Amino acid sequence: MIQIIPISAFEDNYLWLLVHGTYAAVVDPGDAQPVLDYLKQHHLTLCAILCTHHHGDHVGGNRELLRHYQVPVYGPAHENIPGRTHALVDGDIVRLPELALDLTVFDVPGHTAGHVAYYGAESLFCGDTLFACGCGRLFEGTPQTMYQSLSKIASLPDATQIYCAHEYTLDNIRFAKVVEPTNPDLLERERHDQESRANNQPTVPSRLDLEKRTNPFLRSQVPSVIQAAQEYAGHPFTEPWQVFATVRAWKDSLD
Ligand code: ZN
Ligand code: FE
Repeated sequence: MIQIIPISAFEDNYLWLLVHGTYAAVVDPGDAQPVLDYLKQHHLTLCAILCTHHHGDHVGGNRELLRHYQVPVYGPAHENIPGRTHALVDGDIVRLPELALDLTVFDVPGHTAGHVAYYGAESLFCGDTLFACGCGRLFEGTPQTMYQSLSKIASLPDATQIYCAHEYTLDNIRFAKVVEPTNPDLLERERHDQESRANNQPTVPSRLDLEKRTNPFLRSQVPSVIQAAQEYAGHPFTEPWQVFATVRAWKDSLD
């Protein structure tokens, strides 16, 4: 049985620690020190580093961690990941025997061109692709590319726990309510997640089925979202990715 622990870093990053017995793997260690501190306090040994994409807040701690632990570094084949030992492509399996865990790799380009996600133990580590009630900005991809990546994630089992890399949820919910002001699941989620934040609790992970009911970026085929996007754009759409592109641009215009 694996335990998944959030380590807070910077303003709003979560570095996810996967723990089994005395071993731990870390996903997206943007900073080394909080990871080293946690490992020391809990008498854990690092056995692997996994990165989803090349941004500094996801890989910035790799080199320092490698000075303390000589461990494999997994990362997307098509991005520059410091210390990478295993270049991953879609469909690869990352075997972590110390954790008795295998993770499947998915290509999820859009936020960056080579972004990957890791799936296993009913959990998805998706970096800056899907956020709780939001999605990553399109720095290196087109809306079509990101729409396809999000569709791939949406096809996973409903009970999948979504471990994203930032605590952006309340801000994302604020925007989701602009798109769907009367979505009852969204209003319920707002109450729940506001309470979590008031108690200094993470809102991450969230279940995929909740995302499908509340996240406007997974709802490009839902009539209320299509209608809102068409009203914002001022013309009708024929393809779901056009709805997605419009909602993404709409949020960008408000950020
Ligand atoms: Zn990023
Ligand atoms: Fe990030």
